[in-house]
Amino acid sequence: MVPAAARLLKRRQQQMRLDALRPWDVGVDAEGRPPVRPFESATEFVDRGVSVFNRVDPELGRYFQTMQQEGLLDLESRRGKAPGGYMTDLPRKKRPLIFMNAAGVADDLVTLVHEAGHAFQGFEQFDNNLLFCQRWPGMEMAEVGSMAMELLSAPYWARSAGGYYSEEDYRRARIDHLERIILFFPHCATVDAFQHWIYTDPAGSDAEARDREWLRLRKRFEEGIDYDGLEAEWIARWYQQIHIFEVPFYYIEYGIAQLGALQVWRNALKDQSGTVAAYRKALGLGSTRPLPELYEAAGIKLAFDAQTIGELVSLVEEELERLEG
Ligand SMILES: [Zn+2]
Repeated sequence: MVPAAARLLKRRQQQMRLDALRPWDVGVDAEGRPPVRPFESATEFVDRGVSVFNRVDPELGRYFQTMQQEGLLDLESRRGKAPGGYMTDLPRKKRPLIFMNAAGVADDLVTLVHEAGHAFQGFEQFDNNLLFCQRWPGMEMAEVGSMAMELLSAPYWARSAGGYYSEEDYRRARIDHLERIILFFPHCATVDAFQHWIYTDPAGSDAEARDREWLRLRKRFEEGIDYDGLEAEWIARWYQQIHIFEVPFYYIEYGIAQLGALQVWRNALKDQSGTVAAYRKALGLGSTRPLPELYEAAGIKLAFDAQTIGELVSLVEEELERLEG
């Protein structure tokens, strides 16, 4: 993942014709274009969502439509509304609901399809009767439900496929989404390694030692960005990571789940309907089986070897190349 992230950043540097890629060059459009706008109104946001999920699987489309009809989608930002974006459920009613603050930007679409993945997991598993031991698996599986839905729905984000974007914006949105998947892993690895150190090494109680250790790990996992003269800012990234302060050892789950989600996507490229059927079946198991078995039911493996990960990285890089034309 680290070399792949470095390749992405190198390409960005070349696109922007820069001698060095500075931190502020990373979060912007490399060609300075205005942001893409997937939708104008909440109605449009939801209506197109129905058709996108229909393309993934007609039953998932129906689930989403049910949420629309029963008022379980509170998507629009409005005055006085609490911040945030999440899926939660009404266990007795056996319905999921999605809360978010959409404003018409690309991230809103990623959030919606992500949370819809969680919601679909709800629909599939609500008939597991024992609320506390049969529904909702751990994050390593729950996030496969959502992250895989990002990737499964992505081919239909184009307006020509019933989705949201013009062809050019579609390419931009997908490139951005895939790049962020790769760039996430080095960050995830840094956070996880830092958590292991900070909670287990007595030196973790020393403020300066914490900064030094973050920087050491960051240099190991982050290549391709020039932080010359900005060491304090490079360090400050960890102050922003709420998990380190509030939820010890929680973060690596997203990396594990993303590896699962990428495998679901890989399978779907060969056999869309078979893959979605297995995905739904695995979600329906809720937390009734151990994690490796849930993965197996989804047609994927809980694997961390270089070969599996290498294949997934190549797949993302090939797709990026195709999208970039
Ligand atoms: Zn999630």
